[in-house]
Amino acid sequence: MVATSSTERTSRVLIIGACGFIGHFIAQASLDSGQTTYVLTRSSSALWSTKIKALHDNGAVILHGDIEKHEVMVKIMKEHEIDIVISVVGGEAILHQLSLVHAIKSVGTIKRFLPSEFGHDVDRADPVEPGLSMYKEKRRVRRLIEESGISYTYICCNSVASWPYHDNIHPSEALPPLDHFDIYGDGSIKAYFVAGSDIGKFTMKTINDTRTVNKVVHFRPPVNHLNINELACLWEKKIQRTLPRRIVSESDLLKAASENIIPQSIVAAFTHDIFFRGCQTFFSVSGTKDVDIGDLYPDECFRTMDECFDEFLMKLKEKPVR
Ligand code: NDP
Repeated sequence: MVATSSTERTSRVLIIGACGFIGHFIAQASLDSGQTTYVLTRSSSALWSTKIKALHDNGAVILHGDIEKHEVMVKIMKEHEIDIVISVVGGEAILHQLSLVHAIKSVGTIKRFLPSEFGHDVDRADPVEPGLSMYKEKRRVRRLIEESGISYTYICCNSVASWPYHDNIHPSEALPPLDHFDIYGDGSIKAYFVAGSDIGKFTMKTINDTRTVNKVVHFRPPVNHLNINELACLWEKKIQRTLPRRIVSESDLLKAASENIIPQSIVAAFTHDIFFRGCQTFFSVSGTKDVDIGDLYPDECFRTMDECFDEFLMKLKEKPVR
């Protein structure tokens, strides 16, 4: 039997990085789930007028600030009586969260902090550089949170549903291939793919759920447990034609990683970790701190890759690529 929880409760949620790729899914889901949603933005953002305006029009309260400014963050969290803080800052800003953790600790009333994770379990995965450096930073943030005694949830949502390009940090913003497929090795190692909207939806379910306090929550939808050969066939069915395959070897990816071109080399390092080392699947979700999202919400469906590829196909038809 599944234990009851309080996932339906609403809270005052502060989202940092809502203009970003993953952050926008989180902010939208926060609004959709009826949370009182505060969005922190650095006023200089060029995206303000589009993404933030859309969130504002949907009911988000827009606040200006930078997580590195301790006093500003303490004031914001106190003034707005924030319950939950979700950080979705990008790779270059992971360590900026150290300041934020101190601010959350000073406020003393934050019920849950979700730091910027939204990928692999960084305490288990061990990618080559420069991916490893980002994981070391995420690990450092984890340790500070734990030492501070702040209640947390780490969201490990694995891969965003899209073609897993090895040089694109936001792959779901690109159409799957139309000329050839890059197949990693023999293409047999599986990964978990999660639609951006589901990353948002399921993340919001965890924030008030007592079962996710101080846990690592793993997103492993069995329906989207696929290897790259299966993805290629699925996309070919959608576009109704076959595409040539080009093998990308382990050494090709290691070379791309070693070039240290940021952020592409970081993506190459993660791609290597996923499709050669199997970093999403080599362990079972069985530690005392681990929970599988499917066990928490067994009646909730994930969008399938089939549906996600239908969406890409629609985009292709709306805006044909020459
Ligand atoms: P983006 O770079 O797209 O966005 C980051 C956001 O953080 C921006 O809105 C930025 O604001 C904001 N930000 C950065 N620094 C600060 C600061 N000091 N104060 C306030 N706001 C700040 O991030 P991503 O969506 O790419 O990455 C978010 C997380 O998701 C990361 O942990 C990343 O590793 C993970 N990720 C996971 C993927 C997956 O497939 N599972 C794919 C991509 C990312 P501004 O607009 O003002 O610059």
